[in-house]
Amino acid sequence: MDGGTTPNAVSTVLILLGPPGAGKGTQARMLEEKFGLVQLSTGDLLRAAVAAGTEAGKAAKAVMEAGGLVSDEIVLAILKDRLAEPDVNAGVILDGFPRTTVQAEALDRLLEESGQQVNAAVSLEVDDAAMVIRISGRFTCGDCGEGYHDTFKSPQVPETCDKCGSTNMKRRADDNAETVAARLDAYHKQTAPLIAYYDECRALKRVNAMGAIDDIARELGQIAQSVTA
Ligand code: AMP
Repeated sequence: MDGGTTPNAVSTVLILLGPPGAGKGTQARMLEEKFGLVQLSTGDLLRAAVAAGTEAGKAAKAVMEAGGLVSDEIVLAILKDRLAEPDVNAGVILDGFPRTTVQAEALDRLLEESGQQVNAAVSLEVDDAAMVIRISGRFTCGDCGEGYHDTFKSPQVPETCDKCGSTNMKRRADDNAETVAARLDAYHKQTAPLIAYYDECRALKRVNAMGAIDDIARELGQIAQSVTA
């Protein structure tokens, strides 16, 4: 990877693969709390870059609004910078990265530099049709990041976060029906081939992610337990 920063040694690397709406962010946050791993979402990093108006953010904005994939070069530079921060030593859950074979190969090379490898890549398996419904109703607490849904998980007091009491609820600009179709398409064409990629190196685990959030979390917890032990 290019860039001037040096990534830290990371004890555990867990990847969550799955289309938009599969629950990667929700599950990553639960794993983060339970296992002390750090959730690393390239989508969040890119949204922060867009909000900050950095060069990378300016280049990524239109692509993200259209539901396409941001260039490997930008994403890899952003990820590498994040991996240079000290908190990642505890281990990371990669949420939304890698999304292309180029990114997966670059990650392998980066980990190899410090004698590491991907511990597990979990494919969250879901139906596309359900993803459109899941995504169109979702929103997040802008302060603590807790996720909600109009139908499946509404806060006890409307528009107020159960966890931190904030009323700063956010809906993503790209969570609309048209963009979701483009994002699902990008997933099937560019990201789904990574399932075979990780199967080949025996890191792949498959989890049925159509059920209850807590059941999926339990299954993922067992996987995390087996790779962090
Ligand atoms: P996410 O929050 O993971 O759904 O990502 C939101 C958007 O950010 C995606 O639709 C892409 O435009 C972009 N993005 C996030 N992660 C990546 C990645 N690893 N590679 C390319 N684009 C990405």
